[in-house]
Amino acid sequence: MSVSALAYIGLGSNMGMPMQQLQAAYIALNKLPGTRFGEISNIYQSAAVGPGNQPDYLNAVASLHTELAPEKLLLALQNIEIAQGRTRDLRWGARTLDLDILLYGDLQIRTPDLVIPHAEMYRRSFVLFPLFDLNPALVFPDGKNLRSHLESIDKSSISMSCSAEAFINTCS
Ligand code: AMP
Repeated sequence: MSVSALAYIGLGSNMGMPMQQLQAAYIALNKLPGTRFGEISNIYQSAAVGPGNQPDYLNAVASLHTELAPEKLLLALQNIEIAQGRTRDLRWGARTLDLDILLYGDLQIRTPDLVIPHAEMYRRSFVLFPLFDLNPALVFPDGKNLRSHLESIDKSSISMSCSAEAFINTCS
């Protein structure tokens, strides 16, 4: 029997009706092979970081119990992104759907295609807020805790857009 890892996935969208993109992603994540969906966080709205004048983002984090190896999980997430019209052109440009592996158990990986824990996550309120919804006592693989990272980040441009419960109701 394969061992299952607890993975946290970041979801983000600022194009093509972002709430609908997150709903479709939630449904797709619930269907991943070898994976049991855990929880979805509240949905947050924040100003885009990136080039040009972009619309605001909607973001959330989902937890998954998965038997997929990290590389297989990344491929599965990229397939969901592509199915939802994602194109890879401008770095940090607007996107219909962005799915990132934030954490995969206690694993620390650094390959050309995959960095876990996700390289930018400690500085992003739109990752740390939803992670806090799911696991306020979270300790990262390097031993630092979520609460201390949250204390030191800019929280000015983020607000809750929709509760997890309301979001799930719109998906069913
Ligand atoms: P993005 O523009 O954020 O979707 O970045 C996409 C690229 O980041 C992909 O080509 C991945 O190979 C790479 N990448 C590295 N680490 C991760 C990670 N933890 N989760 C998702 N993508 C990652």
